[in-house]
Amino acid sequence: MEYNIGDIVEMKKKHPCGSNRWQIIRVGVDFKFKCLGCEHIITVERPKALKMIKKK
Ligand SMILES: [Zn+2]
Repeated sequence: MEYNIGDIVEMKKKHPCGSNRWQIIRVGVDFKFKCLGCEHIITVERPKALKMIKKK
């Protein structure tokens, strides 16, 4: 499964703001995601990030 910068993904867990949709803003050893609900940015190690994303 490949992910690219700009992709919109759904997470298994909802962010406290109520949104579970995030935009990928960096891929690599770490992934960076921006919450589409509140624009909060998180950095997550790649293996963890891949587990957090809900597969389509
Ligand atoms: Zn949020």
